[in-house]
Amino acid sequence: MKKIWVGTSWKMNKDAQSAKEWVSSVLPHLQLCSDGVQPFVIPPFPYLSQVSQLLNQQPIKVGAQNICWQDEGAYTGEVSPLMVKDCGGSIVEIGHSERRAQFGETDHTVNLKVLAALRNDLTPLVCVGDSKEEKAWGVSIESVVRQVIIALYQVPSHRLTEVLIAYEPIWAIGEHGVPATKEEAQQVHQAIRQAIQERYGEATADQMVLLYGGSVNLSNASSLLDQKDIDGVFVGRTAWQAEGYAELLNIANAKVKG
Ligand code: PEP
Repeated sequence: MKKIWVGTSWKMNKDAQSAKEWVSSVLPHLQLCSDGVQPFVIPPFPYLSQVSQLLNQQPIKVGAQNICWQDEGAYTGEVSPLMVKDCGGSIVEIGHSERRAQFGETDHTVNLKVLAALRNDLTPLVCVGDSKEEKAWGVSIESVVRQVIIALYQVPSHRLTEVLIAYEPIWAIGEHGVPATKEEAQQVHQAIRQAIQERYGEATADQMVLLYGGSVNLSNASSLLDQKDIDGVFVGRTAWQAEGYAELLNIANAKVKG
């Protein structure tokens, strides 16, 4: 039985004090969390050690918002996968649309980072998404599937299912985003799974974890999680307040209990 993943990235928000407060408020909810739910939190790099230490022994994974594709060397300003592990990270977000749009991330660098994460036994969480224009042109599926296939290039077949994919329509995320309907999200998730099945077989496709992200809130999370090909949610604003994140965990827990 697959777990329901419920995660948040804080983007470039919070300070040491508010990070600590978020953790203390979420802790009691983690202790009550069902085994069928997999929580994760992705703070900014400077708080990774602090947050992972505070959450040590808890059933929540802690991760980083980016990595370098090299393990060490003359890469000023970069953070290596080894450093993320050293700071207690076990998961790494790769290719968020903000990084693709503002920091030169490409499908090629996304793929290099996926391989670097796996080489260092970190779980890659690859973000893929279609733009508003691609949606209007009717090429959302083509665009998203292409990003997924390139991200998985040269991933050894026995490690494919370690890679998490988050479908995050660019038109759905952030303050001006309009959440995808459950039907829109399901359609793209189904297409991703189908593309994986065609290349890597049914067993791999079934086991791949596909998350939805983009204006997930307390009103739409439950119906998104009910979709056949949506295995979890990856959430920004709603989860930055501990109460919001705790409520999302409750929604997922209720699904596990049926
Ligand atoms: C995001 O930016 O990846 C995201 C999911 O944000 P939000 O939930 O705030 O739309």
